Amino acid sequence: MEKHTTADRSNDKSLIKTPYKKIAVVVLDIYLDKTLDYGIKDEHISFAAPGMRISAPIRGKLQTGYILEIKDSSPFDNLQAINSFQSEQIYLTQELFELALWMSRYYASPLSLIFKTILPSVIASKTTFKQQLFVIRKKTKDEIIEYCLLNREKSPIQVAILEEMLKVKKGILLTELLEKAKSSRSSVDALVKKGLLEVDIVRIDRSPLINEEYFKTKPKVLNSQQAEALQKINVSLEKKEFAVHLLYGITGSGKTEVYLQAIEKALKSNLRVIMLVPEIALTSQTIERFKSRFDDYISILHHRLSDGERFDEWHKILNSDAKIVIGARSAIFSPIKDLGLIIVDEEHESSYKQSESMPCYHARDIAVMRGKLSQCAVILGSATPSLESYHHALSGKYILSKLSARAEKSQLPKVTIVDMAKEREKQGYTNYSQALLDGIKTRLEKGEKTILFLNRRGYHTTLFCPTCQEGINCKHCDTTLTFHFHDQKLSCHLCGYTIMPPKVCPKCHNDTMKYKGVGTEQIERSLHAIFPEVRTLRMDADTTKHKGSHQKILKDFGTGKADVLIGTQMIAKGLHFPDVTLVGVLNTDTQLNIPDFKASETVFQIITQVAGRAGRGILSGEVIIQTFLPENNVLQLAAKQDFEGFFEEEIEIRRLFSYSPFTNLVKIAFVGDDEKKTLENAINFHDNLKKQLTEHYLLLPVLPAGHAKVKDQYRFQFFLKGKSIYEINHAIAKVKKELKITCKILVDINPLSTYF
Ligand code: ADP
Ligand code: ZN
Repeated sequence: MEKHTTADRSNDKSLIKTPYKKIAVVVLDIYLDKTLDYGIKDEHISFAAPGMRISAPIRGKLQTGYILEIKDSSPFDNLQAINSFQSEQIYLTQELFELALWMSRYYASPLSLIFKTILPSVIASKTTFKQQLFVIRKKTKDEIIEYCLLNREKSPIQVAILEEMLKVKKGILLTELLEKAKSSRSSVDALVKKGLLEVDIVRIDRSPLINEEYFKTKPKVLNSQQAEALQKINVSLEKKEFAVHLLYGITGSGKTEVYLQAIEKALKSNLRVIMLVPEIALTSQTIERFKSRFDDYISILHHRLSDGERFDEWHKILNSDAKIVIGARSAIFSPIKDLGLIIVDEEHESSYKQSESMPCYHARDIAVMRGKLSQCAVILGSATPSLESYHHALSGKYILSKLSARAEKSQLPKVTIVDMAKEREKQGYTNYSQALLDGIKTRLEKGEKTILFLNRRGYHTTLFCPTCQEGINCKHCDTTLTFHFHDQKLSCHLCGYTIMPPKVCPKCHNDTMKYKGVGTEQIERSLHAIFPEVRTLRMDADTTKHKGSHQKILKDFGTGKADVLIGTQMIAKGLHFPDVTLVGVLNTDTQLNIPDFKASETVFQIITQVAGRAGRGILSGEVIIQTFLPENNVLQLAAKQDFEGFFEEEIEIRRLFSYSPFTNLVKIAFVGDDEKKTLENAINFHDNLKKQLTEHYLLLPVLPAGHAKVKDQYRFQFFLKGKSIYEINHAIAKVKKELKITCKILVDINPLSTYF
């Protein structure tokens, strides 16, 4: 995989004595596919170790990188030396190192790219701890009081400062002191000179939530299924051995309580925990449940952390100050030591997969690999496990635990499917079936709440010309523009391009342009037209642009500031509002119709998850699914919340057409700004790759991607199926080396879509 060389190329390959006692094998951030040898200077020898960040010269410039390995000699002479160490800390632990090596091979990505993925960019950069000046008293309080009495007339400003200093317990930040005493730095310096005060540098903790207090909760008495699941997990924890537990529990069955008690067990044995949750679930609701159970410091990693906050959190994890790390996808790379337990909540979630850039890793799969390397327990939890995980559980590779009843005395909701074609025969064009309208009306009267789910934001999804049947497309992307009522503009959901809606068709110049397709914005407005008194909240990408807005909407809904919450899949996950008794699924037909091997699975999961928001308290719940495909089997099974039935049908389809988990699927995508050249690259690569692989590998033809153009970049792709990822990657690497590729290329191992 990696060619070994030295920064100074030398012809002599025999072992030559270098002036250095120790040699470091280094991966530089910029150098993509080679490791390099550097000498270690005497002053660095005592602490230099694998995993440290260094900077070293290459082509006359200094570049940062990592030490991979330390050895006694090098086959090269004239070695240059490592210039400096970013810190004396090991940034990549042994275990993360091994993980990186595996990822590099499995995800067909160079090590330097893997390191970039593992280490947050703020750590790799030169950011340091935030330091501020802190002022403390150098004399006793009495001595200071005496000084104040004597100098009140002569130096009133100094006395004002000292009086502020008498009020504080230990000390105060200089900036704060100056503001409070309305004075300047020179007055403080004068007091320092007189030996009354001292100014010191302190490290400021930028960790979020550091000052928040939570009411403590006690572990709940588990029901028998929960207890059984926990007991199996505890066995793995006690033995400190690798095992993957699939916790398949219906929505509201108390999976989180099992996680909490497993974490407690791990902490008692002095082991640390990583818990992954989908980004969207990193709300105060989830965080509160964890913070209110444990006294230990919990590190929360989400994408809205500032660089400084991320830097501080990361060091807390590295220094073992954080015992539990909760975060989205990339939290799986936390440098936590003594790892005992990894939890992946909602393991079926697609946000665990990185698809847009290499390495196209899946955090759930990394979790399993990391568990194996650390010999620790892994829990995958879901109400709708991925077909892959459930298959592994049935085949005995994973340990299966089922929670089949809701934990609190609530029942699963009653689900009905409504045929919208019939509704429109009766009512004419409408977004709402009579059943749903009646349902909402009853809830409004009783003061209960409703959630409406629709996976499209905006007002109208398309503007088109009825004469020539052309939709208004984005100038830069292969997709139609969505009309947004709020700003009265058409906008592209792929690139953000916006225009005023044209009054005449740009093609045939007819002035009869028509809108069609419904988004969340329209649902909200039309609901107000029907129920003028209704109070609504909308949660989608448009209403959650600002930091904290997501949290605020949920808080407002929880505290009764609205009757109806309308939203995209953001509202499908993890929300627990006991007084929601009605959930309306407005339309999932478009998603069902996408020609994609995972389309059915995705729709099944989303309906089950949204439906699971209903009836979580003592009040029973109801779900209404509106569709033009009332006979559709996936909808029928989702309505029955019959995961096992769905699994049995779908797994047979996967087996028949040879998809995961029965084979490995690899997507190779080509992205470039010249359509013809990008296609040529793809075809050329395809044909060459075919020659490299035996007939056991199936190469499908090159096709444009589901969005054939995004941000002025054309996208072509092809898929290949086969047994060994390593053989496939080996062949890809060979073709990459032989061909001159003139566009971007992306290799996605086991992609989540065969369309996009
Ligand atoms: P899940 O994570 O499976 O969706 P939760 O853990 O959110 O389910 O549990 C749903 C509700 O049931 C929560 O309010 C939780 O506190 C409660 N609960 C969980 N386990 C128990 C238990 N053993 N006894 C009583 N209540 C429980
Ligand atoms: Zn666009």
